[in-house]
Amino acid sequence: MTTAAIRQNTGLVNTVGLSDEQIMIRESVLDILRNTLPLDSIRDLDEKRQFPEEAYQALAASGFLGIPFEEKYGGAAGTFKDLTVLMEALGYHYTGIGQGVMTTLIYAGGHVSKFGSDELKRRIIPQIIEGKVKLALAMSEPGTGSDVAGLTTRAVRRDDGYVLSGTKVWITCGHLADYIVVIAKTDPTASRHQGLSTFLVDARAPGVTVNPLSMLGRRTTHANEVILDNVFVPETNLIGEENKTWKNMMKCLAVERLALASISAGHCFRITEYAQDYAKNRIQFDRPISDFQVNQHKLVDMRIMAETARQSVYRVAELLDAGHDAIEETSIAKIVCTENNFKCADIGLQILGGAGYSMEYDMQMFFRDSRVGPIGGGTNEIQRNVIAKRMGL
Ligand SMILES: Cc1cc2nc3c(=O)[nH]c(=O)nc-3n(C[C@H](O)[C@H](O)[C@H](O)COP(=O)(O)OP(=O)(O)OC[C@H]3O[C@@H](n4cnc5c(N)ncnc54)[C@H](O)[C@@H]3O)c2cc1C
Repeated sequence: MTTAAIRQNTGLVNTVGLSDEQIMIRESVLDILRNTLPLDSIRDLDEKRQFPEEAYQALAASGFLGIPFEEKYGGAAGTFKDLTVLMEALGYHYTGIGQGVMTTLIYAGGHVSKFGSDELKRRIIPQIIEGKVKLALAMSEPGTGSDVAGLTTRAVRRDDGYVLSGTKVWITCGHLADYIVVIAKTDPTASRHQGLSTFLVDARAPGVTVNPLSMLGRRTTHANEVILDNVFVPETNLIGEENKTWKNMMKCLAVERLALASISAGHCFRITEYAQDYAKNRIQFDRPISDFQVNQHKLVDMRIMAETARQSVYRVAELLDAGHDAIEETSIAKIVCTENNFKCADIGLQILGGAGYSMEYDMQMFFRDSRVGPIGGGTNEIQRNVIAKRMGL
């Protein structure tokens, strides 16, 4: 096998099953990121907890933020597979840019594009696509994480709108958001899964306070506390029907899980490549440590995890594109990708030895950035509950 052929097997280069357009998406996105977000600048942004704005704007300028949106609002009406290709490429280059794009386009933007009124979509979606506005999603609260149905943020009808009060926590990109998609209780007498509604809240409206939180990883898109103190929201910013948000929220969460799993799949490839490069160059006992079979097997295990993760997200995308709800498969992919991502980082860190544990190398960042996967988007325990229920357990 030639060196080029061997190289073909290491990074995000497998194009089997992708259309010419999807290959173009991957290659163009990676090219933009190499130019606007060089690998040696990422650790610096991570240390400063600074959003990769230049890369985000470059992706917007090239039209890639339009992939999940309808053409009549300026989008590209991409398929789920197109979205998977985009997210995998972003996650491969840097999870933080993946997280930033996903939060606006999918986490929060999904509510607007799937359930917003035509007027709301015309107002917001073109600005999202152009990179002019960013969104955040505020569902979780100090008292309700996994148990979303128990949320207590209140929205009370007043005149031609609603008044919102409550505290949200762990809100990714809340500090950057122009609008926050907030889930609130509109009917406190309704049962747990009823009486919830979704609102597009102007992040600069009186009564909104955003407090940055210090997190272990994904520090360039860090989480925030969002306090809503009698915030007025016009009724034109209600997303979907009043009191009927639960099913909409579940539909949005399914796409969110696909997106975050795709980021994790891409990240597995990056970590494997990084560890492999290090192992080939690190000399101990007069030879590269990649000569030791124990390290070869570790790298192979990482490669298997990356490939398995990739296959699981592409399978989900194909099922969704074929019109299936793919609930079970989405939960499986979310578990496989995020757990493989963290395992890859853990093994990769061991391959680097002391360098893996050092803040001078990227591996520690991969390790920290991968740890949120099994927690966010509905924990992996909750995903296992979903699968157990569908298995009739
Ligand atoms: C970096 C980061 C970013 C985030 N971004 C956002 C965001 O943008 N918007 C947003 O709304 N939220 C966000 N979250 C919140 C995230 O969705 C929640 O952390 C997650 O849903 C878990 O909720 P919790 O932290 O309250 O944990 P808890 O619900 O308190 O759970 C604690 C532990 O108990 C387990 N557990 C709980 N209930 C069950 C059960 N029924 N069966 C089995 N195990 C169970 C959980 O799996 C977990 O291991 C973010 C979180 C993090 C860490």
